[in-house]
Amino acid sequence: MVFGAVEAGGTKFVVAIGDETGKVIKRETYPTTEPGETMKYVEQFFKQYEDELEAIGVGSFGPIDVRKSSPTYGYITSTPKLAWRNYDIVGALKNAFHVPIGFTTDVNAAALGEVTLGAAEGLSSCMYITIGTGIGAGAVVNGKMLEGYSHPEMGHIMVRRHKHDRYTGNCPYHDDCLEGLAAGGAIEKRWGKKAVELADNEEVWNLEAHYIAQALMNYSLILSPERIVIGGGVMKQRQVFPLVRQKLKTLIAGYIQLPDLEEYIVPPKLEDDAGITGCILLAIQTKQEN
Ligand code: ADP
Ligand code: ZN
Repeated sequence: MVFGAVEAGGTKFVVAIGDETGKVIKRETYPTTEPGETMKYVEQFFKQYEDELEAIGVGSFGPIDVRKSSPTYGYITSTPKLAWRNYDIVGALKNAFHVPIGFTTDVNAAALGEVTLGAAEGLSSCMYITIGTGIGAGAVVNGKMLEGYSHPEMGHIMVRRHKHDRYTGNCPYHDDCLEGLAAGGAIEKRWGKKAVELADNEEVWNLEAHYIAQALMNYSLILSPERIVIGGGVMKQRQVFPLVRQKLKTLIAGYIQLPDLEEYIVPPKLEDDAGITGCILLAIQTKQEN
């Protein structure tokens, strides 16, 4: 009995087989090119386990259609990656394997991974935010991944611009939303260097924390999660964590009670495995529901 997992990312696909505890048994990574090519590798990988495969969990880059009653349920929808636009990823896997398929965002899957086996283990709610090329966030509330009419897109919330920040923002939809001002791409365009090369520039990370702290204030006020896990390439700059905690404290201004900030805002414990682990756990949940 094994569970399949697909972490579908904009640059790479990670596929894995896991056991009933969520542990990765075998994994492979393929570049995200076009569906005809990438999905062929995904299918070849799972074919080896076809006899034991119970279900597959897919955590995908988005936007995706997670509304069960929708005619395009299971599709990757309005992604800027043209080859994947309106692609029926769940349908393709279902046709190939005839097992139940769970489908959610990459960040919802990562939240499920962290709350079950990672930095928020034992809690009933947590958020997972990735600050990488873009910004995405998912959440688990009362043990369930957060979805409503669709899935949350918490990277695109509006934040107040810092009074000295003249960068216009680079979100193709909203210019200066959180992602447009604070994702890795925005840092690189604003400062003209790769984020990793700016490690010693305090101004960069103070400004970054200014935006992240506002987002965390909004998430805290709206969702009241027990823990917020922040991963993604940009957060490899660990000096940002204390700056974010300090600015969040100032913004909240004592209005609501938060957990101890050292425990509230943390890096992922599963590190780069949060997403793929969450996809295995999603497969397990999906099997139980079917
Ligand atoms: P993706 O978002 O594509 O899944 P990542 O989470 O690795 O991938 O994010 C890539 C972004 O993170 C890029 O903008 C890159 O410049 C930035 N980044 C990667 N490593 C670091 C680092 N050590 N310090 C700061 N920024 C980093
Ligand atoms: Zn946006």
